[in-house]
Amino acid sequence: MTSVPELFGSMVFNDRKMEERLPHSVYKALKRTVQNGEPLDISVANAVANAMKEWAVEMGCTHYTHWFQPMTGVTAEKHDSFIYPGSDGTVIMEFSGKELIKGEPDASSFPSGGIRATFEARGYTTWDPTSPAFIRDKTLYIPTAFCSYTGEVLDKKTPLLRSMEKLSSVAVELLHILGKTDVTRVTTTVGPEQEYFLIDKEMYDKRPDLIYTGRTLFGAPAPKGQELEDHYFGSIKTRVAAFMSDLDEELWKLGVMAKTKHNEVAPSQHELAPIFATSNIATDHNELTMEIMKKTAEKHGLVCLLHEKPFAGVNGSGKHNNWSISTNTGENLLDPGKTPEENLQFQLFLAAIVKAVHEHQDLLRLTVASAGNDHRLGANEAPPAIISMYLGDDLGALVDSIIDGTEYHSAGRTNMLTGVDVLADFRKDTSDRNRTSPFAFTGNKFEFRALGSSLNIGCPNYMLNTMVADELAQFCEELSGAEDVEAAVRSLIRRTLTEHRNIIFNGDNYSDEWVDEAARRGLFNYRSLPEAMAHYVDRKNIDLFERNGIVSEAEIYARYEIELENYSKQLHIEALTMIDMAEKNITPAVIAYVNSLSDAALAKRSLGAYSVYAETSLIGELSDKVEAFVKKTDELKSSVAAADKYSGLELAEYYRNEVFERMNELRTIGDEMESRTSAAYWPYPSYGEILFGV
Ligand code: ADP
Ligand code: MG
Repeated sequence: MTSVPELFGSMVFNDRKMEERLPHSVYKALKRTVQNGEPLDISVANAVANAMKEWAVEMGCTHYTHWFQPMTGVTAEKHDSFIYPGSDGTVIMEFSGKELIKGEPDASSFPSGGIRATFEARGYTTWDPTSPAFIRDKTLYIPTAFCSYTGEVLDKKTPLLRSMEKLSSVAVELLHILGKTDVTRVTTTVGPEQEYFLIDKEMYDKRPDLIYTGRTLFGAPAPKGQELEDHYFGSIKTRVAAFMSDLDEELWKLGVMAKTKHNEVAPSQHELAPIFATSNIATDHNELTMEIMKKTAEKHGLVCLLHEKPFAGVNGSGKHNNWSISTNTGENLLDPGKTPEENLQFQLFLAAIVKAVHEHQDLLRLTVASAGNDHRLGANEAPPAIISMYLGDDLGALVDSIIDGTEYHSAGRTNMLTGVDVLADFRKDTSDRNRTSPFAFTGNKFEFRALGSSLNIGCPNYMLNTMVADELAQFCEELSGAEDVEAAVRSLIRRTLTEHRNIIFNGDNYSDEWVDEAARRGLFNYRSLPEAMAHYVDRKNIDLFERNGIVSEAEIYARYEIELENYSKQLHIEALTMIDMAEKNITPAVIAYVNSLSDAALAKRSLGAYSVYAETSLIGELSDKVEAFVKKTDELKSSVAAADKYSGLELAEYYRNEVFERMNELRTIGDEMESRTSAAYWPYPSYGEILFGV
């Protein structure tokens, strides 16, 4: 077997290969583009394209594809072969700089939220040189951004790249004001921890709800769930271990630094965490990770579920977006150092983030909203729907001391019991005890924990970058004219933290008291996608994105429409799937079972049996339930039929408040019937079989 270092990145046209294969001047020019964002010359593109093609062909590739992330959230690709007609009917393998830089997929079916009428369906993909090309299935994949003929942004990558640029330029400006003039570039970094379920393919194939919607729409709880917490970090089953090792290998080949893997809280639930990368590469890699998880599962007779809530009653899946900012000189700007009380630079960046999260809680909430994530946020698992920040004991005490103007005592430093010096510093783990917070400081980064497992992380990250960049720009403006910079910085930090301390909450985010307390503090509590999404188009938010040159008002409206439409469509499909399962299988199964009970009772009586209590009590109970079930099915059908009166936000609200409620009612009766019906008659594998079946 090849060693891991040999394997790692073997399918990636990475920096080392570029250096080997490109003329030195071309390599240097490309580096300048990647590292400093300098524009790219066509002659450079031609040379890179040629080197990429030669490498890809050596690796057995026949095709290339511009790989992009349209607003649907899943990646898209269109494959072209390298062949060109040569003389005398032969072909040669060619790939030009122009083809590398620009592609033209037939884009008419990608959602544009009305930006682009289909008669002018042209959309362009443009090479993103900051994320390396790679090979999958004999195809060279070129990461690209996607925009319309007239330049409107149609994807998730472009705003992310823009937000990274913006944040870099204002952070550099601020650092220069602070006297750190050697910094020329600042990068945001992300390490997304990915949760998922793995179930047996045979079980999956028998569940239309999983097939059509990614989650179970019916299913009585198994006798055992996650209450013993014996799955969390438990030993990994052989079949799962084989999957994980295959997955690691596939990811390593593609240069994805898959680092840790473990079992999660719910049965059949697992997690993978990579080593962090720049936000852009982390986003591409997370998309790849999700795709490769699914493909690898298939090879092992398994199915990987990335839905946020595949099973009621056990934890759903999320994604922890670990986020930080660092300089080209190698400094992590969110590292408080040993003496954070003296580290004004750290305090200033911290203040900007506190202010950003407070002023834009609505954006952080809506960027993680989805039909799937609605089942988690506010549902007593994962973080609540209320966005707040957790700073931990050390940092919390520091912030208090700044606001109150008192001396700072680190909670960590008083704890000398271990006698180990390294633990006596500003300690990472003092900030990591609160697992209930949606936005937690974890030592040298923030962990945004509210993301759903299937989400493309591009969107939350461009929002986060933009809101922080906007605050940093305001700070620059205030500080740039200051005579005494240090005094001005101190007063800015104190004022900002004082004004925005309401977003900081170090207690239990799941408690009922917090809901009341948060309301008193004026924090938002948007429980569902329609509630949250309504604020996407608030003037404040449109202004924020326009002011920072990330997306325009028209583009925000487009995104808003797409999110709402997507939500309504998903609930629509769920409702239709439930109706189908109810009518074609569940109702007939229960009736057949009741019939068999009646036959059994009659037979027993004719044989002179004294009691038929078992049969008659079940018959009575199930007959009542199946009647109610059929009525509820009809109610659900009429509620779906009435949906066409609405559109946009109203439609999404209707699905949430009406259709979804009817679905829940139907499910309740369905699950009660499942618990009382013979397994021989019940048409679908049970939760027990699915969750403990691997
Ligand atoms: P914790 O145990 O606090 O969750 P880990 O060190 O295990 O922290 O890291 C969790 C995730 O955070 C990993 O994906 C890791 O790569 C990522 N991470 C660590 N440092 C940074 C950073 N500076 N920027 C972004 N992500 C980071
Ligand atoms: Mg973590």
